[in-house]
Amino acid sequence: MDKLAILGGTPIRKDYLPYGRQNIDEEDIKVIVDTLKSDYLTTGPKVKEFEEKIAKYVGAKYAVALSNGTAALHAACYAAGIGEGDEVITTPLTFAASANCVLYLGGTPVFADIDPKTYNIDVEDIERKITDKTKAIIPVDYTGQAVDLDKIMELAKKYNLIVIEDSAHAIGTEYKDKKVGSIADMTEFSFHPVKHITTGEGGVITTNDKDLYEKLILFRTHGITRDSDLMTDNNQGSWYYEQLDLGFNYRITDFQCALGISQLNKLDDFIHRRRELVNIYNDKLSKMDGVITPYESKDSNSSWHLYVIQLELEKFNGDRKEIFEALKAENIGVNVHYIPVHLHPYYKKLGYEKGLCPVAERVYEGIITLPLHPSMKNEDLDDVIMALEKVLDYYRK
Ligand SMILES: *Cc1c(COP(=O)(O)O)cnc(C)c1O
Repeated sequence: MDKLAILGGTPIRKDYLPYGRQNIDEEDIKVIVDTLKSDYLTTGPKVKEFEEKIAKYVGAKYAVALSNGTAALHAACYAAGIGEGDEVITTPLTFAASANCVLYLGGTPVFADIDPKTYNIDVEDIERKITDKTKAIIPVDYTGQAVDLDKIMELAKKYNLIVIEDSAHAIGTEYKDKKVGSIADMTEFSFHPVKHITTGEGGVITTNDKDLYEKLILFRTHGITRDSDLMTDNNQGSWYYEQLDLGFNYRITDFQCALGISQLNKLDDFIHRRRELVNIYNDKLSKMDGVITPYESKDSNSSWHLYVIQLELEKFNGDRKEIFEALKAENIGVNVHYIPVHLHPYYKKLGYEKGLCPVAERVYEGIITLPLHPSMKNEDLDDVIMALEKVLDYYRK
């Protein structure tokens, strides 16, 4: 057997294969340059056009584009009326932004555990965690797999809660016969470069509710409006505007939205390629001893942001850390999604403790994210498989 790179052997790959990356072509570059030469750099016609196209793509009435996905979640929590004393239920197996957005408004994130098969939030545990202070649920479509939206929406109706779906991983994912973004009260997408399509930084909220839409628009620009339906005084001159509430500057630029439109045109091709790569991964890895491939719910057709395997650690001599570092030394860009949010020092300081979500904590110990992005070649994927075989054969008992 070849010596592991981490022990001084030759790595499987000469160059590093990242776990995710953007796919930018000449057309993308051209539309950005064209917009830079136009009259608008920040809010202009491209923002509106991007919003309309996103809304149409997911099948929602409205879309509001913001400076990033986290700002979008913050705006959604504001529109939902989250404030001091309110509890919002979310999953621990997510990026911290899914819970931080609640804290920004003085609310309290409450973590429900995950389902041991799908790794998405466990709907029964959501119901157990509901109190008379609960105001909203922020379920996350982890890796791109839709949460059980029918059950979550039913629960929300029963307890009068607002559902803000964090679909940062899931643009293009279908739940039953609808796209995510058209079902929850509000749905957030992110356009960070590792996500399906990018605007550099960027995010959007989609909704079918006009009131929520108006609140999102207000929050994006300082709480300021020129809308005569919303202002308290309509007898002023045309310079006049009013600040109705405390908002932020969460605007996205016109050239970012020009890029977003161009990227959106390619989204279905990107998703197609991601699904192709996942099929190859599933096929090769299901035969590999000690590796559990991702579970796929029949209600969700995932657009696959991440490909996360679970190691059966009892079958190996090394732990996840050793295996992870050995794969990285082979120049395979592995990652871990995610450190359960409640285990971060900041959250511990707020009083959250280990043991709160035992399933998520156990799942976290064995997960590894493998590279997945549409510009990956089949040969790149073969390198990942070879590196996994090399490393796992070394550590297997
Ligand atoms: C990427 C991401 C976000 C938003 O991130 P931004 O970088 O602010 O766009 C939110 N939630 C999850 C689960 C994410 O992965």
